[in-house]
Amino acid sequence: MKKILIVEDNQITLSLIKSELQLHDNVEVFYTDTYKNAMHLIREHRGDFHVALLDLNLPDAPDGKIVKLANANKIPAVILSATISEKLKDEIMKKDVVDFVLKDTPESIKFAVNAILRVLKNYDTTILVVDDSKLYRQTLRDSLKRIHLNIIEAEDGQEALDIIKENKNISLVITDYEMPNMNGIDLTYKLRNLYKKDELAIIAMSSVDKSDVVGAFLRFGANDFINKPFTHYEVLTRINSNLELIDLFTKFKNLANKDFLTGMFNRRYFFDSGLPIFTKNKRKESPLAVAMIDIDKFKNINDTYGHDVGDDAIKEIKTILDKNLRESDLVARFGGEEFCILLEEINLENTRKLFEKIRTAFENNIIYTNGLEISYTISTGICFGLLDSLDAMIQTSDEALYEAKTTGRNKVVIKEV
Ligand code: GH3
Ligand code: MG
Ligand code: MG
Ligand code: MG
Repeated sequence: MKKILIVEDNQITLSLIKSELQLHDNVEVFYTDTYKNAMHLIREHRGDFHVALLDLNLPDAPDGKIVKLANANKIPAVILSATISEKLKDEIMKKDVVDFVLKDTPESIKFAVNAILRVLKNYDTTILVVDDSKLYRQTLRDSLKRIHLNIIEAEDGQEALDIIKENKNISLVITDYEMPNMNGIDLTYKLRNLYKKDELAIIAMSSVDKSDVVGAFLRFGANDFINKPFTHYEVLTRINSNLELIDLFTKFKNLANKDFLTGMFNRRYFFDSGLPIFTKNKRKESPLAVAMIDIDKFKNINDTYGHDVGDDAIKEIKTILDKNLRESDLVARFGGEEFCILLEEINLENTRKLFEKIRTAFENNIIYTNGLEISYTISTGICFGLLDSLDAMIQTSDEALYEAKTTGRNKVVIKEV
């Protein structure tokens, strides 16, 4: 759970901030309206806040004294203020400040809250800085550290490519143009063959005064371009807006491909991803396992404890399956309490062992919810081998599941084809 500190003495602004933040779970928010109380809170939490939203003028601390307090405790801060002189703004932006928001429109609160949420996401976001100049890498590192992004550095395009093949969690690449071994345009071209624009953002930067450099970068798939030298604020703004876009794409993809309750993939995704896996293995004539899992007597749980408890019980499936399956196994929620798994590169014996282990894991599992302790068993039907289509294999696993249900439940039935 990430911790947010809000220091604001204007009650209207405060209630607007509260109502914005209410929409977000997974955060713990602490509110206060004075410098003195902010100091107490920070001490109480040993400075352990992930981000702060600070009003520049507080009754007991005018002119940004609160910013110094956040800085001293290494808390990244977004500043809210009704008015500010250019001089004070410059002074504050030099400090460890993420963003500065003027309270001049109703949207500004939303904007400020977005800025603090962005920082929270940054703790789990990694970006790759590619530049042969140590000085520029250092400048970028200093800027990006302020907004708590994780940074990996590469000295040229080739090193960048090697790194990105090893680190699947990089969301954004910011690359220089002229570098030894592989320049930024070649890197951009190669990256775009690996990742689409909705998977990886690329920002190019160059001090080269050639108009066709920008054009070439954009043509080969860069999302954005920054001229060198740049200001700290310019870099942050561009990086933030490109990360926002990637997040938005991810959100849309999740809406289309994932099940709302469990966060597991849905049936549509199972077929989209499963068909190429099926075709590949069919060509190699290597056997697949399709497993259909269904919770036993699940209706009883709903009838006894209510639908909400039932929902929690369904979510438990993901936890146990995640613990027992490999990253490469394709798992989806097929229907209410029915789940389908496609496994490749597995033999019959290991299939049996794996699903027996999963069956036992459910049998021994206790779910604590609403002050209750519940448990349930599962039945599993498996089609092992190769049939003419993925559909046919699913149907056979369904028949195996039916057999498991009609012959006592809490068991694994495998049909070898
Ligand atoms: P069996 O052992 O034969 O599978 O019995 P069962 O009760 O599990 O099977 P049945 O198919 O009769 O009932 C499934 C129940 O699952 C009925 C439905 O209300 C419940 N269910 C389906 N989706 C959800 C859900 O998203 N949340 C909750 N709480 N219940 C769900
Ligand atoms: Mg260079
Ligand atoms: Mg059931
Ligand atoms: Mg069912």
